[in-house]
This record gives sequence, C-alpha cells and structure tokens, in this order.
Amino acid sequence: MTDVNCIFCRIAKGEIPCSKIYEDDKVLAFLDLAPVHHGHALVIPKSHHKDMLEVPSELGCAIFAAMQKVAAAVVKATGAQGFNVMQNNGLAAGQTVFHIHWHIIPRFDDDSLEMWEQGSYPDMATMQAMAAKVASYLEN
Ligand code: AMP
Ligand code: ZN
Repeated sequence: MTDVNCIFCRIAKGEIPCSKIYEDDKVLAFLDLAPVHHGHALVIPKSHHKDMLEVPSELGCAIFAAMQKVAAAVVKATGAQGFNVMQNNGLAAGQTVFHIHWHIIPRFDDDSLEMWEQGSYPDMATMQAMAAKVASYLEN
C-alpha cells in the first residue's frame, strides 16, 4: 500500500531523506521540517492511508505504542513540560499531507501558544440534541 506521488510514502521507502527518530516494521517517526517548536515530530504508518477514517484500526496499537515512545523521547530531548498530539483530517482541518500522520509537539510552560479558541452551546438541550444526532450515525 504505497502511493508513488505521496511524499510520506517516499520518505517511508527511503527515497526522500528525513530526520528519522524512530522506526519499526509498521511505523516511522521523523522531525517536522517546519516545527511549532524544535523537536516537533511526526509519526506515520509506513503504509499509505489518507486519514483517520481510512487507516485500519489494526494499526492502532503499533501507532499508539510508537507515539508513546516518541513523545517520551521528545519531552526528554527538549526539556518540555508537556506535549500535544495533533492529527488533522481534511483540508478544512488543516491537513496538507494526505498520508495520515500524528504531530507530537513539545510544549513549554511559558510558550503561550493557543491551539484553538473554544466556544459554547446556547443551552443543554442544543448540546443533547447534537449528542443524539452524532450517536444516531454510530454503528454498534
Ligand atoms: P498536516 O498539516 O497535518 O498535513 O501536516 C503536514 C506536516 O508535514 C507539516 O507540518 C509539514 O511541515 C510537514 N512536512 C511536509 N513535508 C515534510 C518533509 N519532507 N519532511 C518533514 N516534514 C514535512
Ligand atoms: Zn503515502
């Protein structure tokens, strides 16, 4: 499962260089070349899947285990006090590379970075109606 036109597939195959920090048979992690903070890492499956809706859930364990290892190493290497795990799906959400990847972003007590602005529901009924609508689309 490789896409010849996909930059992350080409990185996974070693055709394009990266600043690699972790690799196993299913997963690769390397530094983002445009970091939010130095040490900002990307974790990708080696196989090509566009986004969260297309990646096989069977890969989840390997990806999660790699993210834990990479995040712990990034925190130690940068002296960060915390980190964010970000994953964008679709253009509207800011996805620019359509090979699924997770951002591990080291965070510092004084970095005053706002990831997003949160809003509110006008009332509980509106919130409950939204919960019921979303739940109605879930298959059990
Ligand atoms: P996203 O916006 O979630 O799709 O994130 C894609 C990320 O990939 C961006 O943060 C880019 O800076 C990063 N990126 C794109 N090309 C490369 C590359 N060749 N090596 C490392 N990072 C890259
Ligand atoms: Zn790919």
